[in-house]
Formats: sequence, structure tokens, C-alpha cells
Amino acid sequence: MTNSNMNVILVTGGSGLVGKGIEWALNHDDQFKKLPNETWYFATSKDADLRSKSETEALFAKIKPTHVIHLAAIVGGLFKNMKQKLDMYRDNVLINDNVIHTAHEHKVKKVVSCLSTCIFPDKTTYPINEEMVHNGPPHESNFGYAYAKRMIDVANHAYFDQYGDQFTSVIPTNIFGPFDNFNLQDSHVIPGLIHKCYLAQNEGSPFIVSGTGKPLRQFIYSRDLGRLMIWALREYKEIDPIILSVSEQDEVTIKDVADSIVKHMNFKGDYKFDSSKADGQYKKTACNDKLMKLLPGFKFTPFDQAMKETVEWFLNSYQNIRK
Ligand code: NAP
Ligand code: GDP
Repeated sequence: MTNSNMNVILVTGGSGLVGKGIEWALNHDDQFKKLPNETWYFATSKDADLRSKSETEALFAKIKPTHVIHLAAIVGGLFKNMKQKLDMYRDNVLINDNVIHTAHEHKVKKVVSCLSTCIFPDKTTYPINEEMVHNGPPHESNFGYAYAKRMIDVANHAYFDQYGDQFTSVIPTNIFGPFDNFNLQDSHVIPGLIHKCYLAQNEGSPFIVSGTGKPLRQFIYSRDLGRLMIWALREYKEIDPIILSVSEQDEVTIKDVADSIVKHMNFKGDYKFDSSKADGQYKKTACNDKLMKLLPGFKFTPFDQAMKETVEWFLNSYQNIRK
């Protein structure tokens, strides 16, 4: 981004987990703080239902963004993805097409959209890298969401080839942190298990973790991702996506996650796995070499610290959270 002109940055999905991470970084991190020539607008679904082209156009006409961070999506954990494949496909295709095409019509200088490591091919070699996005079908549990997300990369290349638009994407791994969705059925594993552990503690019932606990995941703290999204908007130059992930050595099992929640919730009750529930993809180990080459000094918050902060936030905000 140039420093000479005023930049107006529209963040779609600005009220969600990642949007709040960006807001936190702009207000608290010296390296990634808000610059004097930037105005940031964090949009929610109340500003516009982005599945509607006319509401999307009205939002762009009102905000007049020069840059867009596109986060808005129908998002959920394994069990929501398995249940609502069509919604995850169709609503996300509509949102992405409306946002990206309206950004093109408004001559937006740069768009950074959000993909996910769960969109990579199921049958693959490890570690996964940025070149593998389209190399084969995704895991059957989330193919609706995965194909909708893959089309963002297709669109970005098509807009660049035909018009020279600077539209790119990032690929975060599993994310967690304050302002997550703590719904018991539809959320991702960390917020879902924090909420389940809290209820088990209060009710004196067992804390039950779905699946075997064996699958592996890389988790990024939403405040670290917020910092990296700001970096990508200001500095990342390619149309091709970039993986935003902790290192391969920081991959943990679902059992490690549950143990960490038990520790930070100070849970003393009975704790077990329900292996009749799905495990989903066994692993999707991603390589962060491209990121670390471009931003070598970046320090991730240790998983234990990020979990401690997330559990504290959950306990302090319980009455008002998404659940
Ligand atoms: P989130 O917490 O569920 O937030 C979703 C955001 O999208 C909210 O601001 C929501 O607005 C907005 N939204 C949903 N439907 C909309 C619609 N029809 N029109 C306008 N806005 C709409 O999601 P997140 O976890 O921050 O995810 C952000 C991005 O990261 C997404 O693109 C997601 O695919 C990607 N991602 C997430 C994860 C993860 O583990 N969470 C992992 C990899 C990638 P309201 O608040 O008004 O409902
Ligand atoms: P994924 O990484 O895209 O599969 O998404 P999730 O965040 O939903 O993580 C799914 C993994 O966590 C699977 O191995 C599940 O069996 C396991 N898991 C254990 N308990 C829960 C839970 O309460 N909710 C969710 N979403 N997953 C759980």
C-alpha cells in the first residue's frame, strides 16, 4: 500500500473471530498498528447480506473502499460442514462472487480473501504447500465449503489475467481466540470443547470429546492471524495464495487440545472420548516456509499462552458470546 493517499479498508466479516483479531492488532501491536493514512471499516451481516449483489453494491457505494480484506463466510466446524454441504457451497460462492466482482467494478486496488487449509486435496503428500490447492478432491466431509473456497483462487487469477486486478488470498490453518463462535454443535473444535468443558464443570457431568482424539491440527491464534492479515494487505505482492500457519513442529493432537482446555479451565471431573463421532481428516500438515521467508522475524504466540487468554476471555464474556 502507498503511504501518499488515504486508504479506506473494508473488512467483510469484520465482527467475526478473524476480524476481531485484525482490530486487536491495529490497536495493540506496534509493528502492525493503524497508520495515519488508513480508515478501517469492519462490516457485519447487518451492514449487508453479501449473498445479495444489490446489498453488496450498496455497501461498496457507501464505504468506497480502496482495499478489501474479505473474511465474510458461512463458517463452521467438521459437524456443520458434514450437515450443510449445499449451504457451505452455495452461500459462500454467492458471497465470494459478489464481493470480488463488486471490488472489481469499484476499481479496488487490492483484495485479500481468506481460504483455509481444509480445502487442500485429501490424498496428498506432506507437508502441504501453496501449489497443491487444486491437485485433487478435498476430504468428503467438507467438499461444499472447500470447492467454494478454491474458486476464490480461480477468480483471483482470472481477474488478474483479464484485467490486472491485484486480488490475492491467504490460507490460514485452524484458528481460535476471543470472539470465536462457541456453539456446541456447529463450532470448531477449540471453542466447542471450551464450552463443553465449562458446562461439564458446572453440571458435574463428564467432559466428552468427539472422535478418537488422534487427528492432528495446526492452530493459529486469531491475534497472530490478525497481524499477518495486515501484513498481507500491506506487503504481500503475489496473486497466488500464501499459507499462514505455525510450523510443522507445532502441530498438536485433538487430545493435546482437550488436555490444554482441561488445564486452563481447571477441570477436575471425568473426561473421555466418544469414538462413535467422526474424526474428519486425519491431518492437513501445512508448510509455512513461504511466510517465514518473506517475514522471517515473525513470532507466533505459544499455543499454551493463546489458550490461556482464550479461556480467560470466554469465562469473562460468557453472557455475551456467540453460543
Ligand atoms: P466467523 O467468526 O464465523 O465470522 C464470520 C463473519 O462473516 C461474521 O462477521 C459474519 O457477520 C459474516 N457473515 C456471515 N454471513 C454473512 C453474510 N451473508 N453477509 C455478510 N456477512 C456475513 O468466521 P471467522 O472464523 O472469523 O472466519 C473468517 C474467515 O477465515 C472465513 O473466510 C473463513 O472461511 C476463514 N477461515 C476460518 C478458520 C477458522 O478456524 N475459524 C480457518 C481457516 C479459514 P455477523 O457477525 O453479522 O454474522
Ligand atoms: P476441521 O479441522 O476442519 O476438521 O474442523 P474442527 O475444528 O471441527 O476439528 C475437527 C476435529 O476435532 C475432529 O477430529 C473432531 O472429531 C474433533 N472434535 C472433538 N470434539 C469436537 C467438538 O466438540 N467440535 C468439533 N467441531 N470437533 C471436535
